[in-house]
Amino acid sequence: MSLLSLRNVSKFYYSKGIVTSGFSRLSLDLDRGEFVVITGESGSGKSTLLNVISGLDTYEEGELYINGEETNAFTPKELEEYRKTYIANVFQSFNLIASYTVYQNVALILQINGVKYRDIRPKVEQALRKVGLWEIRHQKASRLSGGQKQRLAIVRAMAMEPDVMLFDEPTSALDPMMVGEVLNLIKDLADSGMTMVVVTHEMGFAREVADRVMLFHNGLVEEDCPPDQFFEDNQNPQVKEFLSHLI
Ligand code: ADP
Ligand code: MG
Repeated sequence: MSLLSLRNVSKFYYSKGIVTSGFSRLSLDLDRGEFVVITGESGSGKSTLLNVISGLDTYEEGELYINGEETNAFTPKELEEYRKTYIANVFQSFNLIASYTVYQNVALILQINGVKYRDIRPKVEQALRKVGLWEIRHQKASRLSGGQKQRLAIVRAMAMEPDVMLFDEPTSALDPMMVGEVLNLIKDLADSGMTMVVVTHEMGFAREVADRVMLFHNGLVEEDCPPDQFFEDNQNPQVKEFLSHLI
């Protein structure tokens, strides 16, 4: 059984009498430990998918299963529990608390999620040491470099030991110099046993670490295959078109 399954899920936005499709009739299975890279042009539905998977957004059609359980009928409390237990999000813009220290940013999340007081310090220490941020634990988040901010956001997301980590363009707000350090950290997580879904335009990274590469176009999944197949001799016109725009 897949960890997460979507069956013919559609997401529509209604605004001022106009209906926009986020994505339509999407079916997808995510297995435990899988590393999936999602790419595709702006507006093709990538963020919408991550938001629906993570329960940050609703969907209008279809079914979403976690461990075989249908989530459609979840109460708000069950949905919160689902988010807490299974999901962690990493966004383009870090979403850290600027006036808090590195340490406090991680500790707060553990506290909010009900980790016992005496367990917080060892958990924060372990997490920060893993990514080399322990030495600067007393620095305010606002004083970090972009790369350090995103590494902290990733550590914070990991601290609750989620089953699924969802990254929405985690390096696109960074200076080119800092992209590598963040991608390397995400790479290191590939063997963690967590399911990783990374929306990115970094195709070198996709080729190196992904189990699957998905291409979105106009709210549809145009391709979903192993990287070898995606990058070498792919005959799908949408993939060819997409690859032809890469430098
Ligand atoms: P991507 O992340 O691939 O750039 P999105 O998932 O953000 O694409 O958007 C997919 C489609 O949904 C686009 O047509 C976009 O305009 C529309 N959309 C996204 N968010 C909203 C919103 N909050 N209200 C209305 N339309 C939206
Ligand atoms: Mg997006």
